[in-house]
Amino acid sequence: MTETERLLTSSRPYKTVVADKLSGALNHCYLILSDDDIARKTLCRLVAKAALCPHGGCGKCDVCEKIDDGAYVALRINESEKISVDDVSELIEDSYFTGFDGDIKVYVVSNMQGMNEKAQNKFLKTLEEPPEGVVFILGASQQTAVLATILSRCKKLYFEGFTSGQIYGVLTEKTEEPDDETVRAATRAAVCGFGNLTRAEKLYDDSAFSEKFSLFVSVIRNLTSTKKLDEQLAKLKIDKTNLDGYLDIAETVFRLILAAQRGAVEKGFEELDGLRGEYDYPTLVNILELILKCKRMSESNCNPQSIADTLFIGILEVKYLCRK
Ligand SMILES: [Zn+2]
Repeated sequence: MTETERLLTSSRPYKTVVADKLSGALNHCYLILSDDDIARKTLCRLVAKAALCPHGGCGKCDVCEKIDDGAYVALRINESEKISVDDVSELIEDSYFTGFDGDIKVYVVSNMQGMNEKAQNKFLKTLEEPPEGVVFILGASQQTAVLATILSRCKKLYFEGFTSGQIYGVLTEKTEEPDDETVRAATRAAVCGFGNLTRAEKLYDDSAFSEKFSLFVSVIRNLTSTKKLDEQLAKLKIDKTNLDGYLDIAETVFRLILAAQRGAVEKGFEELDGLRGEYDYPTLVNILELILKCKRMSESNCNPQSIADTLFIGILEVKYLCRK
């Protein structure tokens, strides 16, 4: 069992399904909600195993062993990013007509956000009159990605995310004796993941992340007036490819400053020393709102340069307006 799996087997969604299984009260449809792709996919698989194993996912019996080997017939897993009407038709046909050995048959669809409305409507008909002995384990990045009519047929299970300590454990799982540099990179990625392992792994794999982080902080530190804006912004060379990364870094920086004011100073972010005292609570809240606005602008494909201007001019404005 990997560290991620171990952590997820103590999560609430997992424990709920195990309890349902052991009390003989399995629902015919579960929906696991998490915007963390790795957590959601892994949880769907673990939950499917718990539903199929007579002991609620013991990890030792024949059923569990076969599932681990990918050889269990009564388990079908769909982890595709896009699911079409044809895919749904195939799944429905399979669920009605294919026989199976055990008591139940489980279908996993981990990316419901990738199933378009037409396909979801088709799928709904099966959920309304589910075939005997079939359990559906669905996953979605967010509730709004799933039709309300489907939602009402599922038992919804929210995964609330990992702690930064848990993410650190996953990131360094395969490193026997991590050196200082690895510890630092893993600590930073773990904190900046904000509970999301997929996001943290992406940052951990980006060798330039630490450098970009330091650069961003130095720009913020030197940004004292609009006169210096162009000179400072030029250092970041913001374009379409790095904008979202910088917006994540901006969010991280100001969230860390906010957390530090409440007494939670994260280790491994020396650049922030001295910067923490410069912002009071209302300033930080306003800046975090501003960053969210910039993220929405980026989602609607606004020009990267004008988003960068909005952010940095906005930070200067907020600092000016909130000064004591
Ligand atoms: Zn088992």
